[in-house]
Amino acid sequence: MYGWAGKILRVDLSNGSITTEETKKYLDYTGGLGFGYKIIFDEAPKAGPFDPENRLVFAVGPLTGTLAPSTSRPEVISISPHSFATQSKHSLASRSNFGGYWGAELKFAGYDAIIVQGKSPKPVYININNDKVSIEDASGVWGLDGIAAQEAIKEKHKDNDIQIAAIGPAGERMVRIAPIIHRLGNVARQGGFGAVMGSKNLKAIAVRGTKGVDVADKKGLIEYVQSVREFQPAPLGATPLSNGPLSWTGKHLDPKDINHQAQRFDQTESNAPWLKKYHLKNQSCYSCPQGCYTYMKVPKMGTGAVSCTQWFYAWMGNKDEGTFQASQLVNKLGLDSFEMFPMIQFIWHLQDEKVDGKSVLRHMYDQKLVSKKNLEALEAAHYPREGGNLGSAGLEGMLSLMAYREDFLGDALGEGFRRAMDIISDEFEKRKMPEVAKAVMKFIKMEGIMGGVVGGNGGWGMSAHYDPRTFGYYWAVNFAMENCDPMRHSMTNLIEWTGLSFKQAMPVAVKHWGKDVAENGLNDIHRSRDTPLTWNGEKSAKANAYLSQFIHYRGCIKDSMTGCDWVYPVMVSGREDRGYAGDTSVEYKLLGYVTGENMTQEKLNEQAARTWTLHRLLTVLEWNDGKPVNMREEHDQIPDHFFAPVDTRLLPSFPPSDPPHPPLVREHFEATKTEYYKLMGWDVKTGLPTRSLLKKLRMDDVLASFEAQAFQLPS
Ligand code: SF4
Repeated sequence: MYGWAGKILRVDLSNGSITTEETKKYLDYTGGLGFGYKIIFDEAPKAGPFDPENRLVFAVGPLTGTLAPSTSRPEVISISPHSFATQSKHSLASRSNFGGYWGAELKFAGYDAIIVQGKSPKPVYININNDKVSIEDASGVWGLDGIAAQEAIKEKHKDNDIQIAAIGPAGERMVRIAPIIHRLGNVARQGGFGAVMGSKNLKAIAVRGTKGVDVADKKGLIEYVQSVREFQPAPLGATPLSNGPLSWTGKHLDPKDINHQAQRFDQTESNAPWLKKYHLKNQSCYSCPQGCYTYMKVPKMGTGAVSCTQWFYAWMGNKDEGTFQASQLVNKLGLDSFEMFPMIQFIWHLQDEKVDGKSVLRHMYDQKLVSKKNLEALEAAHYPREGGNLGSAGLEGMLSLMAYREDFLGDALGEGFRRAMDIISDEFEKRKMPEVAKAVMKFIKMEGIMGGVVGGNGGWGMSAHYDPRTFGYYWAVNFAMENCDPMRHSMTNLIEWTGLSFKQAMPVAVKHWGKDVAENGLNDIHRSRDTPLTWNGEKSAKANAYLSQFIHYRGCIKDSMTGCDWVYPVMVSGREDRGYAGDTSVEYKLLGYVTGENMTQEKLNEQAARTWTLHRLLTVLEWNDGKPVNMREEHDQIPDHFFAPVDTRLLPSFPPSDPPHPPLVREHFEATKTEYYKLMGWDVKTGLPTRSLLKKLRMDDVLASFEAQAFQLPS
């Protein structure tokens, strides 16, 4: 089987059994994400996130470990402790992934996936060295931060080339926003899968492999990859025209010069120019020419890698070394840097909201819900409302409070910002302080930084990762159908990051989706934020639904072949002679060269439809315990505040001049949903996949299994 190691490793931490099984049985689901959903669906769809029977799946795809660019991001799939859906009877399955070298190393060790189940009676780590797999005592590394733990394991095995995925103190304490960290800054972030590892007493998974990956057409792959590198855009989907607050440097380098592509990007300059003097070099994940990680060495703080939202403290207003310190602290403590946006703003909200002339935080102190030491740290870490910069005072105390679940407040924050709001508000209700309880809950509607694009309540208990009010109804439906932050950078590459003008971007959109979809779905690219979204009736509903389906299918393909979200599908190019158009056929062509199969986009779309439908059925099982449910009405929703005018903006927004977004119109959202269900082959009234769809997708086994444990699907 070209492209595959052929084996899946299963480790049961309850009884110490280590077995392997064949990859073959999952191949209808492409790899990575598809494998993970199938395993959860087959084995433990209704487990609680911290139940020993919950499966934690790490899976790669057929391209991982080959030359195919940017395809070594292993997918992590499990029942998520982070996803928040109070109407659901069970916790929901969700996903994340991480870059670096771990995924390729897993393939080199001879495995396409690892299924971890059970719970160890004491802290352990899994050590994989080709065919030798063992469960090792982790008493010497339990308690260490996520980076120190990796160093200690390498030291113990006297092998610096071991690739390790580990958790920090937050994961050990089952903090629901605890990610899994690999190397210095490659992190499987949202979903709380670090907490799932903690619940299993699993500190790390160490991998060392020395085998290769067989490729069907090596020469063809090399030539094709070279041709892709000639039009692949700069990191994060940017073209040489990029500008604005996150502009990219080195943009005048010849995009055809593949030897310099890794040097084309400098996030320090874009996000925190005051740290530029500490920049060491850029760093890539395995097989990626983009190099979007920045390695830095800061005096008295050491070295670390920073990328994307790990710059969060700069985005929130810091302009000193605190930016680097914040990034390193979250990585070491094992906290999700993206969730720091709403979390820190929530902590500021507790200080800004006053009842009887006293802040909510001070009320918490009076009620002994937070200690003096932590009160002082939080107050020191407050954003100066009246000008000035956000310094680093109190930063360590604030982050440690949640990672170690210190005091009542830290314990609540360790549940994620959305659960924390309920917990703190309920506590004040219990103490007969309803006004304070109400003040806490005001945060629910808050718009985050960057004009609401980042950091508010996006739904599913997670930080908003781009606001549907900015992009349109396809993005709103994208939010509604997922169980987590639905970010797909492939879309934002075209719309947000490229620097293309409307006149330049529209022909690219027309090339990818045709005139009707481009003009009725993306007619709002670059509108000013205070302009309502355009709505052309049925045409808009159809175009937005089409884009939502594109996002979901291409997301399933990308996460199953385990490609990077910043790269696939390749929507844009830096090449003016191509009209800045990328090429959305790269995925299936790469898969063809590697696996030797006669791959087409239609075939891949069918696999994506299978994976997405499986995810849907899994969610249906979880949502109502296998009983009939109207998913359209219950699950496929976004928070009410997206349909109401903005009334709470905590931070001076970034950039400060951004006006608030006008609200979405509910009828337009519902009309887009209707068209989306039709396109997907799901029942329009209930949002349930139909029996005929499952048969068409050759998912008879899934249909039989679903109906045996749940109810009959609509015909
Ligand atoms: S673009 Fe960045 S995150 Fe993605 S694979 Fe390349 S180096 Fe890793």
